[in-house]
Amino acid sequence: MIRPIRLLGDPVLRSGTRIVERFDDELAALIDDLVETMYHADGIGLAAPQVGDERRVTVIDVGERRDGSEVIELVNPRILSSSGTIPSEEGCLSIPGLVETIERAAEVEVEYRNRSGATLSIRGTDLLGRALQHEIDHLEGTLFIDYLGSLQRRIVVQEWKKAMEAKGVAVGDG
Ligand SMILES: [Zn+2]
Repeated sequence: MIRPIRLLGDPVLRSGTRIVERFDDELAALIDDLVETMYHADGIGLAAPQVGDERRVTVIDVGERRDGSEVIELVNPRILSSSGTIPSEEGCLSIPGLVETIERAAEVEVEYRNRSGATLSIRGTDLLGRALQHEIDHLEGTLFIDYLGSLQRRIVVQEWKKAMEAKGVAVGDG
């Protein structure tokens, strides 16, 4: 089921998430919804808070097929190690239209569970490394704009809000 994506200003994006302890049908349904909503929005990652759910779950697909064959489903992910730093442009489905350059680790190793509860790990660089860090941040209530300087952040958020209001979309503070 495609779910509405929550926008900057919605408190659920800031409230953090709780660890998943039950690997049941409800978890599978959430993961399926995240994957479907991510593809529908043409995104490369989507985290549970972005659809209003406070479980520690996110999905990523940086592949080209976009048919579910390359999707990574991460339950309770955590970054084990990171190295280097690299600046790159970044955006977010919860702040549509806003793209800013921020620095992130060049490589991360992440441990996570799959929908069945098995423990796995993945190492990511480039787009995958960036997506892993961006989506895990969502699970902590952190957004990519938080890495901007406070003045720059205030300016770009104000401009974004104006652009959204011009489209008839009301947004709160966040
Ligand atoms: Zn995002």
